[in-house]
Amino acid sequence: MSEEKRNLTCIRCPMGCQITVTLESGEVRAVEGNSCPRGDEYARNEVTHPVRTVTSTVRVRKGSLPVVSVKTQTDIPKDRIFDVMRDINSVTVTAPVHIGDVLMENIAGTGVALVATRDVPAA
Ligand code: SF4
Repeated sequence: MSEEKRNLTCIRCPMGCQITVTLESGEVRAVEGNSCPRGDEYARNEVTHPVRTVTSTVRVRKGSLPVVSVKTQTDIPKDRIFDVMRDINSVTVTAPVHIGDVLMENIAGTGVALVATRDVPAA
């Protein structure tokens, strides 16, 4: 049976606990180093199904600013970040943009929307 250890830094809070996950044949056998249950959950997800919220900016036409900050409405699979960034870079929206506006539905086929995180009034 193959045993593997993965060292992670928990990103669920600023303490940044160093966590070691022991895997045996791909199954999680032990999680050590976390100071709370959120770290255990983070570590298990990270080694089996890693996800991230993506934050970036989208170009704005005729706005008081050239770009608007955006984020994915929920987490997306980590291995889709490249595709999501490609879609984000391909889009331009027209001002005004309001915080919470859905700028793209189903970004990169993830089923997750891309939303604005600030207002950009028309110029
Ligand atoms: S394990 Fe708990 S205390 Fe440690 S960084 Fe993660 S969330 Fe914070």
